[in-house]
Amino acid sequence: MSAGVSIRALHAYYGATHVLRGVDLEVAAGEVVCLIGPSGSGKSTLLRCVNHLQPIAAGTVHVGGELIGHRRHGDALHELKPRQVARQRAGIGMVFQNFNLFPHLTVLENLVEAPVAVRRLRRADAEERARALVARVGLAGREGSYPRQLSGGQQQRIAIARALAMEPAVMLFDEPTSALDPELVGEVLGVMRDLAGTGMTMVVVTHEMGFAREAADRVVFLDEGRVVESGPPARLLADP
Ligand code: ADP
Ligand code: ADP
Repeated sequence: MSAGVSIRALHAYYGATHVLRGVDLEVAAGEVVCLIGPSGSGKSTLLRCVNHLQPIAAGTVHVGGELIGHRRHGDALHELKPRQVARQRAGIGMVFQNFNLFPHLTVLENLVEAPVAVRRLRRADAEERARALVARVGLAGREGSYPRQLSGGQQQRIAIARALAMEPAVMLFDEPTSALDPELVGEVLGVMRDLAGTGMTMVVVTHEMGFAREAADRVVFLDEGRVVESGPPARLLADP
């Protein structure tokens, strides 16, 4: 089940650098939002605040109505127990620029490990679902391969499948195609387009304007840690 994301008056810092300066962003369940903005504008930090990878200095983040983080300047961070944080993170899929597959595990093992360890699925059930996901990203037959035996595009498709193996309510993508050779970008965007069609809630940081035009319900522009524009791609993105 997809969930919405609600971000209110969010502030975040790196040391003394004030990176997010009051971000408000509502993403409806099933909505696909492309996050666009200059390098250093805080896009990656914003995703990381949703996934417990970045401390929130002020503001609130909810996913599926559930509080991820809340703080006012100077107050102690809203305390979640480590188990709550682990459970919430399990429900939020994240795909990074550099694939981040476990190099010593096969494709199938990469998809099975977390569902067995975190969601306590039976290994046989996790494997059956993993095979279906490998097929869904177009890589049936490569279950026994190691990541280094795959192209970058194939590795990223497996990274997406691995995130989906946890049955997340939300998927976050942080420049998922920017480390790829140009000829491999399309296959990853194809998988993301299919996923968008399933009603998955997606927040995608990308420079791929073609993808944003075709797959996004909405594009959101970030600049200097604030949302400066938000609307349908047809209105905000000029034709190529
Ligand atoms: P974007 O994803 O839009 O390129 P980021 O969220 O990665 O932006 O970074 C926003 C700002 O935070 C940048 O000015 C960057 O210098 C700073 N920053 C990002 N990561 C770190 C870090 N690990 N340590 C210190 N500063 C960082
Ligand atoms: P600005 O960047 O808007 O000029 P400041 O950096 O002076 O503002 O800080 C504004 C507020 O943020 C202050 O209340 C301060 O306590 C808080 N603050 C500053 N640095 C951090 C930090 N690293 N983490 C959390 N809160 C911070």
